[in-house]
Formats: sequence, structure tokens, C-alpha cells
Amino acid sequence: MTPTAIHPKITPIYQTSVFKFDDLDAVQQYFDEPGSRYLYSRNGNPNSDELAAAVNQWEGGAGALATGSGMAAIFAALMTYCQAGDHVLCAADIYGGSAALLNLELSRLGISVSYVPFEELYDLNSHVQPGTKLLLCETMSNPLLRVVNLRAIAEECHRHGVKLVVDNTFATPVITKPLAHGANLVLHSVTKYLAGHSDVTAGAVVAGTPEDAARLRQIGTVFGLTLSPMESWLSVRGMKTLRLRVAAHSYNAQQVAEFLEAHPAVEAVYYPGLPTHPQHVLATGQGHGLFSGMLSFRLPDDAAVVNRFMQRSQRFPFAPSLAGVDSSCSHPLYTSHRALTDEQRADLGITVGLVRLSVGIEPVEELLADLAHALS
Ligand SMILES: *Cc1c(COP(=O)(O)O)cnc(C)c1O
Repeated sequence: MTPTAIHPKITPIYQTSVFKFDDLDAVQQYFDEPGSRYLYSRNGNPNSDELAAAVNQWEGGAGALATGSGMAAIFAALMTYCQAGDHVLCAADIYGGSAALLNLELSRLGISVSYVPFEELYDLNSHVQPGTKLLLCETMSNPLLRVVNLRAIAEECHRHGVKLVVDNTFATPVITKPLAHGANLVLHSVTKYLAGHSDVTAGAVVAGTPEDAARLRQIGTVFGLTLSPMESWLSVRGMKTLRLRVAAHSYNAQQVAEFLEAHPAVEAVYYPGLPTHPQHVLATGQGHGLFSGMLSFRLPDDAAVVNRFMQRSQRFPFAPSLAGVDSSCSHPLYTSHRALTDEQRADLGITVGLVRLSVGIEPVEELLADLAHALS
């Protein structure tokens, strides 16, 4: 049987670092007709291209790059618009890794950063500098699930000639598509909901224009940020159930949030699906009535109380990541937000009693029973 007679329904894993050419004409074709062939997997591979196309389609973009991690995606996004001497604005509520990248690494390459408190995101007058190139924010923030009005932020950014880069990891394009609200780039830790099974580390960046997409691709190739065939394939498989999973995560998280809000041991619950959440109305409109599987809640500020909850829960193992089909819990102060200054943590209310749940897609009665036991 010749290979051309094989018609797999699913894209096979092209586990190869390089591709063959018959002669010089064939390699010339690669350069003359972009997209007609493959050369070297760091530049492009059928599996990473399939993932990029899938994320691009979900986000409604003009082209995308699949990266080796969410961090690589943030780096690629920043490099698309910034060079030495430029300035970046970053929402104060931001993933700890993004803050570390900006504070510790990009600062020494001459890219400066300043942080914008949540309340000031819609009036950037006092924050924009002559060299400000972009603003980085998250659709839904970690760990307090603050929801940003993307259209208002995009308008404010563009009024100042600043690009808007949105980390859409928590929301996913099932809930919100930032490009449609005016964002210039949207990025993901594919590790989380897009892949969805806690078995892949991957990222993606989607561009709103073909020019930015071409720039992203070059950055991916030259910095070597691109994703391997196997991880791409796993991510593509995970994404096939994205719509179903996000709906199930959101349904379960709503029940868990309502349960926790009514529980006497719980001091506060942060979930945009609760009417008590400060951005509930905005989140409902911007998110089509889905609020994701992420929520945080407050126990008394006593490590012993938090430890007892973690030790007693069977269904929410303490694992500092999120968005898998199986539930887990994390602790911002001890893990994701360790690197913040005491002042930043105090401003955000990240104390020892703050616990973050990633609510999975298990039968919700089992999750509620487990939480009732762990909190009793
Ligand atoms: C996890 C995460 C990242 C980093 O992604 P990795 O895949 O771990 O590199 C970036 N942003 C957010 C919001 C995240 O949750």
C-alpha cells in the first residue's frame, strides 16, 4: 500500500524534527510558496499548525502561534510589540509568572513595566508614558475572578495608541472572545482549559491581523518558542471537547459557589456567577452566562484551618495548577502569588485563608459532599 492510500480521520502525530526534500527545486518551493511544505519542526509542523489553527478559529483571529508553554505565549506576545526602551502597562491583578517575566527578566532587557490597579484600568491618563506600547490584562483574574470590561479597556488603550494584549486562559473563547471586543492579541496557557486534562504544558497566541500573525510566527521560530508535535496533538484532542467541558465546569462551579456562600465556615466567595460578585452583570453579558470553573473562597486566616480543609478533602487535591477535568485546589499565597510584595498581596487581599478551587466535571453531588465533609 502506498502512503497516499492511507486516509486517517485524525491527523497522525508527525513525530519528526525535520522533513525531506527530493532536490533543490523542492526546497526552493518551500521558500517560494509559504505553507506548501514543511522544512524543520521548530519553524512549523503539521501538529503545531493544527493546534494554532484550532485556537485561531475559536478566537476568530487572523493567525496564531502554538508555543511550548503559556509563559512562552506571554513572551511571544510581548516581543511582538516591544523592544528595548519601551514601556508596558500591566493590570495589577495578573498571573504571578507574568509579573515575574516583566519584573525580573524583561526589565533587564530595557523593557519597563508599571502596574494599573483594577479600578484605574478604564482611565489610563495617569499611567501612559511616551514609550508605552501595550497593556496586558486577563479577562478573568486570578485568584479573585475580577472581570474586566474588554471593550471599554480596548477603547481606552486605542485612544492612547496602546495595544491591548489579553490573557484569556481563565475565560476561554467559549466564554469570551477578546479579539471581538477590540483586543489586538489574545493568548492562552493551553495547559489549562484548552487542553483540559492536566497532561500537557502548552500555550498559544492569536493575532488580530495577518501582519501581527506573521511577526508572531517569526518570533516563535527565532526564539525557539514553538510546541512539539506530541504536545500539539494532545492539545488538539483536548480542544475537541472544549465547549462541553467549559459548560460542565461552569455548571458545577456555580453549584459549588452557592454551596460555599451559604456555608458558615466560609467568610467570602469570589465567583462571577454569584449575584453578589461586583462584576456579575458585566460577566453575564460578556460571558454569555458562563463563568468558568474557577473560584476562590476565604477561610479564617489560620494555616491550621486551611491545612485541615486540604487534608480532609478527597476530591480537591492540592495541586497548584487548574482547569483539568478533575477538580483540584490551590493556595495563592503559598504558590502562584508567592513572588508578590507584601504590599501587593495586601492590596489584593491574598492572605493565608484564601483558597482557590478549580472545579472539575465530576458529578456535582460528589463534590458538594466532599466539601461539606472537608469544612465540617
Ligand atoms: C498557568 C497560567 C499561565 C502560564 O502558563 P504555563 O502553561 O504554565 O506556562 C499564564 N497565565 C495564566 C492566567 C495562567 O493561569
